[in-house]
Amino acid sequence: MYDTILIKYAEISLKGDNRGYFSKKLAENIKQMFKRGKIKFRQVKRHRNHIAIDVAIETKEKEEEIRSVLERVFGIANFAFAYTCDKDIEKIKKLVLAKVNLKKSKSFKVDASRQDKSFPINSMEIGRIIGEVLYNKFKTKGDMKNPETTVYIDIADRVYLYTEKIHGLGNLPLGSSGKVLCLLSGGIDSPVAAWLMMKRGCRIVFVHFYNSKNTKKIINLIKLLNNYQLNSRVYLIPFNEFHVRAAGVFQNLEMILFRRYMLKTAHEIANLEKCKAIVLGDNLGQVASQTLDNILILDHDAALPVFRPLITYSKQEIIDIGQKIGTYKTSIEPYKDCCSIVSRYPATSPDLEKVMEQEKKLNMPLLIKKTMKRLEIKDIK
Ligand code: ATP
Ligand code: MG
Repeated sequence: MYDTILIKYAEISLKGDNRGYFSKKLAENIKQMFKRGKIKFRQVKRHRNHIAIDVAIETKEKEEEIRSVLERVFGIANFAFAYTCDKDIEKIKKLVLAKVNLKKSKSFKVDASRQDKSFPINSMEIGRIIGEVLYNKFKTKGDMKNPETTVYIDIADRVYLYTEKIHGLGNLPLGSSGKVLCLLSGGIDSPVAAWLMMKRGCRIVFVHFYNSKNTKKIINLIKLLNNYQLNSRVYLIPFNEFHVRAAGVFQNLEMILFRRYMLKTAHEIANLEKCKAIVLGDNLGQVASQTLDNILILDHDAALPVFRPLITYSKQEIIDIGQKIGTYKTSIEPYKDCCSIVSRYPATSPDLEKVMEQEKKLNMPLLIKKTMKRLEIKDIK
């Protein structure tokens, strides 16, 4: 079977001087994902336009395993299971004849590309030569527009031959943009928000505020997200300090005060973890607490940027992503979340001054200090 996996960078090619940094990160992430999947490889080698992983793939099962791992790595435009040979046209002909089978194909084309311009034959000519060799053997007709099989030949550090280009997730290698703190609630939205930040290269630290001690659902959600970032740290924080002080006292301002309490506590954790931003699963207008007025008050004195990657998404769009990335099923399992303790009718446009006035009564700094003493850290593999 195949001897190499050829991986093409996604946006890394646009990165100019930082290219090395991004490609190193990607190679490192792939190695770790392989190790976790117990996939043995000989070497992972970085080149200007691609990464090549030398690995013996003897069975279809192994191919599928590797495919499912690489389909979860951010920063890959596409990848292919390939055969390799030296940069010599006779050797290419031999390899093509040994490995390509067009018996079942109604039509084909050869797509040659020459990254190594010192190779004496240009891509058009390679296409013509190899096309002829294949035609002579199989009598399959050539079709440049809509071929059933495309035979790819890349002349790079060596020659790569493959017939299927598999789509990757694109975007940026995980961790290449830095670290952010995501408030994970156990609902549908926040795991999707975390994933969207991951795809732009952010490593995520999670924080969850809980009422009941049963945080199994949260741990399960994080395990699912670990399919993309391998291991995660979560801060589990009981919010009964807030509950005791505020429940029933501030009526329709309870929600905004609670959210400010969460955000402020999150800032403390972001500082501990050196996270550069905070991420929420908010979505404009979805619930009463997610109006522009509420967001304005929530963020009004935030020291860190607060990102809301889902702000413009419809619920259905969020569900679609949740299903695609595998978190949706777990998200909809029953879980008693924070909304159950606060007013069922939060103010949709609270008054900033009033909120600040009430917050003073709450003694927020003390509340946060007490809360921080009770947090629990879990590293989830
Ligand atoms: P989700 O589906 O993520 O629960 P939601 O539509 O139910 O979102 P809210 O419950 O108002 O909306 O929460 C908005 C955001 O606030 C969440 O996406 C999450 O980022 C954060 N959040 C809410 N509750 C908690 C919690 N208990 N712990 C951590 N973060 C929370
Ligand atoms: Mg929720």
